[in-house]
Amino acid sequence: MPQSPNCPHILFLFSDTGGGHRSAAEAIIEAIHLEYGGHISTDMVDIFKQYAPQPLSRVPELYPLFVRFPQAWGLGYRLSNGHHRARFISASAYPYVRHRIHALVNHHPSNLIVSVHPLANAPVLRALGKRRPPFIIMVTDLVTTHALWYHRGADLCLVPTDTAYQRALACGLKPSQLQVVGLPVAERFCQMKGNPLETRIRLGLPTDQPIILLVGGGEGMGPLEKTALSIEEARLPVTLVIITGRNKELKKRLDRHEWVIPTLVYGFVHEMPDFMQAADILITKAGPGTISEAFIAGLPMILYSRLPGQEDGNVTYVTAHGAGVWAPKPEKIVAALRYWLENPEQRYKASEAARRLARPQAARSVAHLLVAQLGVKSG
Ligand code: UDP
Repeated sequence: MPQSPNCPHILFLFSDTGGGHRSAAEAIIEAIHLEYGGHISTDMVDIFKQYAPQPLSRVPELYPLFVRFPQAWGLGYRLSNGHHRARFISASAYPYVRHRIHALVNHHPSNLIVSVHPLANAPVLRALGKRRPPFIIMVTDLVTTHALWYHRGADLCLVPTDTAYQRALACGLKPSQLQVVGLPVAERFCQMKGNPLETRIRLGLPTDQPIILLVGGGEGMGPLEKTALSIEEARLPVTLVIITGRNKELKKRLDRHEWVIPTLVYGFVHEMPDFMQAADILITKAGPGTISEAFIAGLPMILYSRLPGQEDGNVTYVTAHGAGVWAPKPEKIVAALRYWLENPEQRYKASEAARRLARPQAARSVAHLLVAQLGVKSG
């Protein structure tokens, strides 16, 4: 929303490294506008694309390539994940990014700044100096959260789970700086219209077969293709809906394949809530955004891959609560699918467990907490 001289302005710092940071920021912005109408203006800045020097500005573009090497990613994550190491990394990078981060701060005068990206916190707080608006961190990883999220200078740090809360304490934040709110999810997931049957008809999906939704995060990551081909080979009596996100190469390959079971392939979709409502089972990478959305949709999950480090805890969280299973190999995925198809009562149990973990109020709670910092009344 454009900035008006009469409205308090909130700046959101994010980056398209995966889809989760953007989804969380957009969900909060939507909740602010739903709760406070036009009384508050907002904007979003991609810290890498818009304000990092070359070659860092290419990080969002290169991110899908980095995560294609999960072992190397996991090693980098572990080596950097400590309070002192995080401070050292931020301090070493600052001279290199300082000029651009000062430009960001000068171009976007705001009454409140919200960071939904761990790499924004230290440089932006440093560039802002002492006379600054309130700075709030919304952690968008669910369980295993990197030390870079937890900057002690933040006025408030909002976390999605109790485990993230404990991690924040271990990184030196005070209880008064912390609040557990859940992960903000778009209103469209929380206020579903119609029922699964109507949604299937609207999406042109069959109504007489279980629908299996396959998703690999915003970038179509993990062995989506291998998984889909194994389900096809097993000739399971299902319709496959594969969402490849921004992975255009994968979409092309899957489009060329002659499927022997009913299969629909989509690129990046904006109707994820509809697809989740229409589906019976979700097969997904353990991304925090997708998992939190599936909790709200009550969709049982088969987690087929995870980013080592930041997504490890998501797997434990889902499986320990009975909302899904971990099946890192195509044959395990097929076995889990077959079990749920043959034992629908077990699938319903997982669906109920997923619903119990849902936090549909998260985005609105965050909106209230942010706006409380501005002293604006609900409109
Ligand atoms: N998403 C979407 N359309 C797509 C693929 C993904 O809107 O075609 C959204 C999905 O609903 C979720 C986000 O992108 O909100 C992915 O976030 P997640 O944390 O699951 O994974 P990431 O992409 O950050 O690794």
